Amino acid sequence: MESGLNEKESRTMPETQRIVIVGGGIVGLAVAREAGLRWPDASITVLEKESRVATHQTGHNSGVVHSGLYYAPGSLKAQLCVSGVKLLRQYCAEKGLEIRDVGKVVVAVREDEEARLDTLFERGTTNGVPGLRLISAAELREREPHAVGRRAIFSPHTAIVDYKAVCEALAGDVAQRGEVVLGARVVGVRRAHGGGRTVLVDGPAGEAYPCDLLINCAGLAADRVAMMTGDNDEPRIVPFRGEYFSLGARARGLVSGLIYPVPDPRYPFLGVHLTPTMAGDVLVGPNAVLAYEREGYARLRVNPRDLRDTLFWPGFWAMAKQHWRTGIAEMYRSFNKSRYVRTAQEYIPELTAQDLRRAPAGVRAQAVARNGALVDDFWISRSDGVVNVRNAPSPGATASLAIAGYVCDQIAHDD
Ligand SMILES: Cc1cc2nc3c(=O)[nH]c(=O)nc-3n(C[C@H](O)[C@H](O)[C@H](O)COP(=O)(O)OP(=O)(O)OC[C@H]3O[C@@H](n4cnc5c(N)ncnc54)[C@H](O)[C@@H]3O)c2cc1C
Repeated sequence: MESGLNEKESRTMPETQRIVIVGGGIVGLAVAREAGLRWPDASITVLEKESRVATHQTGHNSGVVHSGLYYAPGSLKAQLCVSGVKLLRQYCAEKGLEIRDVGKVVVAVREDEEARLDTLFERGTTNGVPGLRLISAAELREREPHAVGRRAIFSPHTAIVDYKAVCEALAGDVAQRGEVVLGARVVGVRRAHGGGRTVLVDGPAGEAYPCDLLINCAGLAADRVAMMTGDNDEPRIVPFRGEYFSLGARARGLVSGLIYPVPDPRYPFLGVHLTPTMAGDVLVGPNAVLAYEREGYARLRVNPRDLRDTLFWPGFWAMAKQHWRTGIAEMYRSFNKSRYVRTAQEYIPELTAQDLRRAPAGVRAQAVARNGALVDDFWISRSDGVVNVRNAPSPGATASLAIAGYVCDQIAHDD
């Protein structure tokens, strides 16, 4: 296995012997694999509450390998997405998993979007995204004969992959050096006498896992697990459901690669897009509506604890005050299929309501600060034997192997 670590980092070994990682999504598994490569003598345990890995965000995403176009230059997202793509490509090649370069167009359909398109292009170029080009309406038509737009950015190396398959491979690697314990919900963390911690799990035997280093990659529960470790209460996770439709057989032929809108810079979400998947579907979505349950994939699901946590977080109200108009518009589109169809028709006018069928939704773990700011960048903090990955939204799957390297660098440099 390739670790991608440099010589200096590999020499800096922590004294850590027992490492527990909470969460068997792509970030937790990638971190566990990287830790096993760097510190072969450490015992590595991943605790995952579900009976399978990749059950939540990782198993409900669009399957896009992002190129690094969108992210503020110098941000962790920009750095770790661009380096993460390379690591993901290497890893998939090593495991015989296909990454398909379907390419992507980001399309300006209105005049006022053109200036934002240019800014996005500059950003992508600064971030070192390979092969980016601005293309005319005519070239857009050549690439996507059924799409319309004034101009577009073409990103030839934006790709798709099956992230669940990547996770199965990662879990296999972790199992060679450590353990992935399924059905293990972490319910508490106790400080142990003489240093270290004990992670409490509500498994059948009420197991306890002593560790010297705890790495929290709990996705939608990252804030709760962080607070169990004694970390502060900010930022908090506010769940946003992303609903998808899939195209019927007739309409699938209208889309060749990924077709994205120019994103609204006020939000970390990319807007409803058209995405071919490795399974042969074409997804339309996701939107972004407030979810009343953190793992609530159906529209009307409510979990009282989750809803209470959202409503009692001052950051939620500060966010709602700033963005209530968009929130209401998103809810309206969620319940009104014809509104959703009109969004897709802005890019592919030939689509009709009959072409779109509801498909499984995903829920994003979006960290929200106390002042209502939607945390845009990855948020990874380290203190006294604990690393908390508190915000790892899109492109977290693309960047996962690079996030793993970053987390292990933080540990190595602090010891
Ligand atoms: C709708 C949607 C579309 C997206 N599209 C893309 C995309 O195309 N490309 C891309 O790169 N990224 C995309 N993303 C983002 C990407 O999916 C995430 O960044 C990534 O999956 C985060 O991985 P994770 O391991 O942090 O979280 P998760 O996959 O959510 O994993 C966290 C794990 O922690 C477990 N857990 C939680 N609490 C506990 C506990 N107490 N004890 C034990 N286990 C616990 C959960 O069961 C879960 O398995 C998308 C996300 C969504 C929701």
